[in-house]
Amino acid sequence: MTQTTTTRSTCPYCGVGCGVLIQTQAGRITGVQGDPDHPANLGRLCSKGSTLHLTAAEHVTRQTRLLQPLRRPQRGAEPVAVGWDAALDEAAQRLAALHQAHGPDAIGVYVSGQLLTEDYYVFNKLVKGLLGSNHIDTNSRLCMSSAVAGYKATLGADAPPCSYTDLALAQTVFITGSNMAWAHPILFRRLEDARRANPAQKWIVADPRRTETAAAAVEAGGLHLALRPGSDIALYHGLLHLLLWEGFANAAFIAEHTRGFDALKDRVRDFTPRRTAELTGLREEDLLTAARWFGGATPTLSLYCQGLNQSREGTAKNAALINLHLATGQIGLPGAGPFSLTGQPNAMGGREVGGLANLLSAHRDLANPEHRAEVARLWGVPEVPARPGLTAVEMFQAAADGQLKALWIACTNPAQSLPDQATVRRALERAEFVIVQEAFATTATAAYADLLLPATTWGEKDGTVTNSERRISRVRPALPAAGQARHDWAIAADLARRLARHIAPERVAMFDYPTPEAVWREHRESTRGRDLDITGLSYAMLEQNGPQQWPLREGQHQGTERLYEDGHFATPDGRARFADVPFLGLAEPVDADYPVSLLTGRLRDQWHGMSRTGTLARLFGHEGEPVVDLHPQTLSRLGLEEGALVRVVSRRGQLVLPARAQEGVAPDQAFIAMHWGQEVLGGATENGQALLGVNGLTTPAFCDRSKQPELKHCAVRLEPA
Ligand code: SF4
Repeated sequence: MTQTTTTRSTCPYCGVGCGVLIQTQAGRITGVQGDPDHPANLGRLCSKGSTLHLTAAEHVTRQTRLLQPLRRPQRGAEPVAVGWDAALDEAAQRLAALHQAHGPDAIGVYVSGQLLTEDYYVFNKLVKGLLGSNHIDTNSRLCMSSAVAGYKATLGADAPPCSYTDLALAQTVFITGSNMAWAHPILFRRLEDARRANPAQKWIVADPRRTETAAAAVEAGGLHLALRPGSDIALYHGLLHLLLWEGFANAAFIAEHTRGFDALKDRVRDFTPRRTAELTGLREEDLLTAARWFGGATPTLSLYCQGLNQSREGTAKNAALINLHLATGQIGLPGAGPFSLTGQPNAMGGREVGGLANLLSAHRDLANPEHRAEVARLWGVPEVPARPGLTAVEMFQAAADGQLKALWIACTNPAQSLPDQATVRRALERAEFVIVQEAFATTATAAYADLLLPATTWGEKDGTVTNSERRISRVRPALPAAGQARHDWAIAADLARRLARHIAPERVAMFDYPTPEAVWREHRESTRGRDLDITGLSYAMLEQNGPQQWPLREGQHQGTERLYEDGHFATPDGRARFADVPFLGLAEPVDADYPVSLLTGRLRDQWHGMSRTGTLARLFGHEGEPVVDLHPQTLSRLGLEEGALVRVVSRRGQLVLPARAQEGVAPDQAFIAMHWGQEVLGGATENGQALLGVNGLTTPAFCDRSKQPELKHCAVRLEPA
């Protein structure tokens, strides 16, 4: 009988970070189960996680994976196979030539929240320690950068204070800007368990649509606050007004542990129930109920995600929500606190190594000269450049304008996932040199690559990730790399060494890493004395004791479940800051020409651009094709039946999709799932160029602090097609 081997690893999809047991037989992955010992999922997996083994089947690998380095002789031509040495030498020579001709700012590196922490660390060091710019950003910019900026502005550090165990301890759960029933399914199962165990637990869901999460709340006797798109800050200010009025403010906590309350109090004075109801479209009595539950049925836990983050006022939305917890003292207690749910599996790890244009290793700030000097010392380089790098949207705008000459894209598909696809496509066409480092050959971005570098993926990768609750888990290989694929960190380190020989020979040795653990140990050292200090952690400890939450300082034997329990925050004086933020509203409000709010979001069984989930027929059983969800009244206003084709037109492009009647979408709204790209959806820009997916419609407007774009909403008009 063939022997089965079991390997403990982590699911590569969402930020819940579930542990998986991978079964292999005779060099093939044959099954996957939830890891009963992993604290995130306790043995459960959702539809995506439980089918991972099928996405790693041999026939899928053959059809979808990039299995050898490829080079395009010219744009538009079929790529041809080259050896690794030839591919990396060419990449090093061309990047060095552009570096010498135009300076370090000519090269942009765009990475991913699906890279492991070790991968991210090497990419970040390569750009900031070798190339000499800060032009590295990541698709985490589209995911969590507003949460980062919101935490830092109020609590002083980018550190989610809560744990998954708080779900069962909360008495009121405020879910806002998150359809967690679909986007974080295993966490939602834990919440359902919590409510079964404690039927008195109250759920409030704030979302413009009646999502599955909102419907579940109503079914459980909770509240659905179907607020107007973009009116989140008005809602939070209105709730704070009511919390103060109803006597739920925690005066002692405010006095001892915070600053800035008076200015905020002045601001929310105007957010009376009547005015808040007008601004949000909600009923005054529902606002009052929500405030009474939030302030009175404690402890209160807020769970939030892209509905807050993907907004031109994303930082302010995060901060305004955190204000509610500070004003009531609902933070640092079991079952209480503002808890951001990360979208991607390692959005947290990327932040930890500073792999974004404005950050440095271990939550250091690029803008801080001392932090730059510390990182330069750690890396043994004279300095880390001070000039902020280009963030995701800016990077592609700069390439479209001809300022960036080269783009190196790893483990992400910007030709589908960034807003304003017409600009992104122009950037990819105009850049003189495009490297795409990918596991999958099928992404829209791969079609633009001059050089394609095959990377390992789930089942093959080796390293660590951090989930939403600050828990670091091992990702372990169950199989050797497919074809000639190599680990992302190893590709980046090899190319860095070759590049260094051209531009800074004394820095070649900076990238001599024999193993991912060697990379990780360097990262660990960078965290010493920082808020995320993990100097007490090791791969061996992860092996022995399982996944651990940071911080875990030298001498400690286990991680930290909850932050700020002593009321001391990560600001210089230890006090949290109230954020006195104005309510601005949408980047692109509806008007007479574009009178409908287009909302975007996730489906239960798909992940991002479907590179992996799209390989399985069974994951299309839930939602088989792209549609535009419209209220029945909207359909009749258009004179259309369900199933008829509707043209959805924004200022940047248009799409034609079948309509589906959905009562949960308001009559002045439309909803399209984010997963289908150009190849499936079709569509065109206003001037008739190129086929584009839903992000051909979305706006590139972004939050001025977090630089996270407003992917969640744009104004459109609807026409019969
Ligand atoms: Fe994977 Fe997220 Fe599903 Fe867990 S909830 S199995 S991490 S997709």
